Amino acid sequence: VVTDVFIVGGGPAGLAAAIAARLKGFDVVVADAARPPIDKACGEGLMPESIAALRRLGVGIPAEQSFPLRGIRFVDRNLSVEALFAENAGIGIRRTRLHGLLIERAAELGVRLLWGNPVTGLSHHSVTAKWVIGADGQNSRVRRWAGLTAVRSESARFGFRRHYDIAPWTNHVEVYWGRDCQVYVTPSGPCEVCLAVLTRDPHLRLNRALEEFPKLAERLGRAVAIDIDRGAVTASRSLQRVFRGNIALIGDASGSVDAITGDGLCLSFQQALALADALESGDMGSYQTAHQKLQRRPALMGRLLLLLDRSSKLRRLAMHALAANPAIFENLLAMHTLPGRAGSAISDVSGLAISMCAQLARLSCSCRLQPRPQSSSR
Ligand SMILES: Cc1cc2nc3c(=O)[nH]c(=O)nc-3n(C[C@H](O)[C@H](O)[C@H](O)COP(=O)(O)OP(=O)(O)OC[C@H]3O[C@@H](n4cnc5c(N)ncnc54)[C@H](O)[C@@H]3O)c2cc1C
Repeated sequence: VVTDVFIVGGGPAGLAAAIAARLKGFDVVVADAARPPIDKACGEGLMPESIAALRRLGVGIPAEQSFPLRGIRFVDRNLSVEALFAENAGIGIRRTRLHGLLIERAAELGVRLLWGNPVTGLSHHSVTAKWVIGADGQNSRVRRWAGLTAVRSESARFGFRRHYDIAPWTNHVEVYWGRDCQVYVTPSGPCEVCLAVLTRDPHLRLNRALEEFPKLAERLGRAVAIDIDRGAVTASRSLQRVFRGNIALIGDASGSVDAITGDGLCLSFQQALALADALESGDMGSYQTAHQKLQRRPALMGRLLLLLDRSSKLRRLAMHALAANPAIFENLLAMHTLPGRAGSAISDVSGLAISMCAQLARLSCSCRLQPRPQSSSR
């Protein structure tokens, strides 16, 4: 194979990179070990910013194959808080459908797609390319081959997902917070929802997780699960470098945020656009800079959400504070989904902290005001 850009991995990140590079006029080849339809454990929610990036790639999502998402709802036992996305809607879509749309667009532009082709090394004489892109996912071999394994930070959880044959009851992504997990529900089509559980416990599966959420189980009622559970590791990983020489990484291969952020796909699409700019200018340093900038906001949100995952006390406090002051949740969601709002992150997080302190003060005050229980011997 002789080409300008050789991409290892034809998942969402590899295909987006191929489309973006082809739009700049490069000749592009993608090799993937698997054959479509390629499925993967995923919550299947696309944040509003992903839709903007997909539009720039020329990928449209047909309404009949997806479901519009208007906001996020957090549910923790009896407490529920929600906020709408500030501007555009997000979209819920089956992973395999999204993959099909990306393949269609890449093929239409003339990207050469080699399915069923595992790449086993970079010193292969059968490929001559100006640029090699590693889009080979979480356990990237390209990352290893290029010596780009040095991390700034790393942690991992486990995720399992399943689809139900039921019309969505909401246009929000619902996140149910439990003792050792979150179950989140994404409407992924007009007649189906996708359930995913995220946990640090490698033995926890959806059935057992659902026992903790009777209201959700009741909602699902007699709905039928339409596929088998699919699992994957969700890593929070930040790499020191995402390129070396003529090799660059993208998508999960280049670092990732915990799935609870719902930002993995969005990052991949945005990185693809930045990478194509860098290929065009021949300045990979600009890709490194753009990559770091793109990852900063989702990584901050990921750390905040994982803090709530670790401490149920802190989470209850945060939920009370958000319920008492819904504007804070709206601001946090706006910061999460609108790049221009990243600068206000600190004030929104400190707003949450202040509100939590006020909540704590109120709770302790009301505890002190409670009449002491009468002793039964008197
Ligand atoms: C449980 C869970 C829920 C999630 N929920 C969401 C969500 O709701 N929203 C969201 O935006 N993100 C979510 N994510 C994250 C999202 O799924 C990932 O960020 C996304 O899949 C990254 O795409 P990718 O193309 O980088 O990697 P992948 O999708 O893993 O694709 C990598 C591709 O590379 C190929 N490959 C690997 N090695 C080789 C090789 N040697 N040669 C050739 N091909 C190779 C594989 O076959 C595969 O097709 C979730 C993740 C998990 C685990």
